Amino acid sequence: MSIPKIQKAIVFDKNGGELQYKEIPVPQPEPNEILINVKYSGVCHTDLHAWKGDWPLATKLPLVGGHEGAGVVVAKGANVTNFEIGDYAGIKWLNASCLHCEFCLKGAESNCKEAVLSGYTHDGSFQQYATANAIHAAKIKPHADLAQIAPILCAGITVYKALKTSEAKPGEWVAITGAGGGLGSLAIQYARAMGLRVIGIDAGEPKKKLVGELGAEGFVDFTKSADLVKDVVTATNGGPHAVIHCAVAEKAVTQSTEYVRSTGTIVLVGLPHDAYVKSEIFSHVVKSINIKGSYVGSRLDTAEAIDFFERGLVKSNIKIVGLSDLPKVYQLMEKGEIVGRYVLDLSK
Ligand code: NAD
Ligand code: ZN
Repeated sequence: MSIPKIQKAIVFDKNGGELQYKEIPVPQPEPNEILINVKYSGVCHTDLHAWKGDWPLATKLPLVGGHEGAGVVVAKGANVTNFEIGDYAGIKWLNASCLHCEFCLKGAESNCKEAVLSGYTHDGSFQQYATANAIHAAKIKPHADLAQIAPILCAGITVYKALKTSEAKPGEWVAITGAGGGLGSLAIQYARAMGLRVIGIDAGEPKKKLVGELGAEGFVDFTKSADLVKDVVTATNGGPHAVIHCAVAEKAVTQSTEYVRSTGTIVLVGLPHDAYVKSEIFSHVVKSINIKGSYVGSRLDTAEAIDFFERGLVKSNIKIVGLSDLPKVYQLMEKGEIVGRYVLDLSK
């Protein structure tokens, strides 16, 4: 397979700086890495946070973002035994971890202190050729729709893991905030496939429509509801047993401590800048509620989340645009105007 020396990428030199669409060298895989010719990459809100420098964790600079990359293996390092040239493979947020610490050993690989993050501490999938640690890279079956599977590689894995973390049982209610966005629209489908009843919380008619089509039984518009807590409690006959926060909003979390059902579980997934959880302690104790964080997923969560996709239980609601359109996608995302997920076609 002929691999070019130069490729197209989107690069920034400083947080919030210009998103440069330009030619850069194709990276060489390390002995434990594969080189993937990325065909499609989803754009996650995390990529926007990374570019803006929203979080108390520094990015590498200059940086190529992106961590929902689906493509074809075109080269591999000498130690790689689990991928062959021509296989489909996926780049995910967790590019590598040490595999021998306490957290890696117990399947909490994302909590590894040495975790390498695609599109954050390691150049990611907003380039035509990207490297990934072979042990952590996602396995994708031949003939898969690479544009469709791209959002599963972060959004899908993350919400699937968050739903497992909630310990909600079939027949119980789960509220999903940010339900019309990239993570939320997949969370509705994973929840339904797991036998849960869903109420979506987000804003505007297009998102309400999508949320309903995906199988949510209720929708509350957070920009219109005069009493969101009451509306959610009424729609779920006493409050949801679980809440999955895909919204990038501190207020949504505070509200959920009021509407979650007694003994229920709130799972924090969205990562708003400089935000805190506020829960009134008396009610928290008397209702005996739980608040947990959930951070992407392990290799096993990855394989399971992809299996749901391959069996047709979840599909991505995508709009495909070219790599050079990334700045426009960020503008729409900042305004909360994206319904589902934007996916970049790396050939454009
Ligand atoms: P997105 O922009 O596609 O969706 C966010 C949605 O939240 C939008 O539809 C928006 O309208 C909605 N929203 C905003 N304020 C709200 C409110 N008060 N109540 C209800 N909904 C509200 O973003 P995304 O790509 O789905 O990512 C969501 C968040 O999850 C980001 O902060 C991202 O960084 C984070 N994330 C976390 C993990 C993890 O492992 N924990 C993994 C991936 C992404
Ligand atoms: Zn992501």
